[in-house]
Amino acid sequence: MILLNDFARQWQETREEAIAAFDAVGQSAWYILGHSVKDFEAAFAQYCGQQHAIGVASGLDAIEISLRCLGCKPGDKVLTTPLSAFATTLAIVKIGAVPVFVDTDAFGLVDLKAAQNALYRDPAIRFFVPVHLFGHAVDLHSLSDLREELALTIVEDCAQSVGAESHGLRTGTMGQMSATSFYPTKNLGGMGDGGAILTNDADAAALARKLRDYGQGQKYKHDVIGLNSRLDELQAALLLRVNMPRLDRWIDRRRSIASAYIENISHKKVKVPGQPAGSKSCWHLFPVLIPPEDKALFIAYLKEQGITTAEHYPYAIPDQQALSEVVFEVGNGGIENARAFCNSEVSLPIHPFLTDAEIATVIETVNNWSV
Ligand SMILES: *Cc1c(COP(=O)(O)O)cnc(C)c1O
Repeated sequence: MILLNDFARQWQETREEAIAAFDAVGQSAWYILGHSVKDFEAAFAQYCGQQHAIGVASGLDAIEISLRCLGCKPGDKVLTTPLSAFATTLAIVKIGAVPVFVDTDAFGLVDLKAAQNALYRDPAIRFFVPVHLFGHAVDLHSLSDLREELALTIVEDCAQSVGAESHGLRTGTMGQMSATSFYPTKNLGGMGDGGAILTNDADAAALARKLRDYGQGQKYKHDVIGLNSRLDELQAALLLRVNMPRLDRWIDRRRSIASAYIENISHKKVKVPGQPAGSKSCWHLFPVLIPPEDKALFIAYLKEQGITTAEHYPYAIPDQQALSEVVFEVGNGGIENARAFCNSEVSLPIHPFLTDAEIATVIETVNNWSV
């Protein structure tokens, strides 16, 4: 079976070093907010080109805490995309803020023209959470223009985009803050939950550190109502000592698999969107688009041939039942592109442990689909 993610192979490669890293944490006899988290935060901030990284318990919390640090309050409108992990919207909703959805482009990314229109029409929208979906970078030049022109507050969702660049700029460097996740499937993943916030704003970073730790600035002195959202020492040690040193090599491998797919997949019913102009993707996922009426057949055919696929995502977020419980808005351009994307998208395996033979098998099997 060719898997979407192959954690058994990853463990084979990293096992010895991981056990040594866990042993060092054990011997340190300090398990929460110790040296591993501190050292990882410094190294990760440097990798991302930001001054501060704050380790938290998940990507979801990273987005929520970032928005709260930047002043997002209940009732505030937050522009975002209808096509993402549900967590992007959930973070907004947990604050009591109001998500405003605008449509997506040909790559499934939030359409920045639609975003601009919504922002012009409704000056009450002061926050924007764009998502660098699939590992493609949303255009950071356009994002920078929006930020400057409208004095917009931006939290970039980089959960899928660690290592991706737009016009040579790392994702996560254009928002006042950005958020990422170390969920195991992510390009930089742990062996459990985890996340981080990135920023150049020292005050916002200090507030994020309080918010992740019950709102305390000093021990037992609580300045704000916070959360329990700490990255733990074991995850930080694994990320710092084992997975981060491999990250660039793993991303390179993903990029060469993407190139092979883009060059060699040729089937009249399989559309390969590739990456947007200006984006140097880190290829967290490899989406292809299938006519909606054939999608289930395509997935079943690949499964029969031993190839695992997934759908990212089968439903647009505003169409989820949970959203019926909250207030949200849809920009006047609607979200039909996003819905069409949901109905067509299938993700092919793209992980650093695929062999050359498996890559060739995926290409050949897709090309041989007789529909
Ligand atoms: C994974 C993911 C999240 C949520 O991260 P968790 O660590 O699972 O909470 C948010 N946004 C996007 C785009 C993601 O892919």
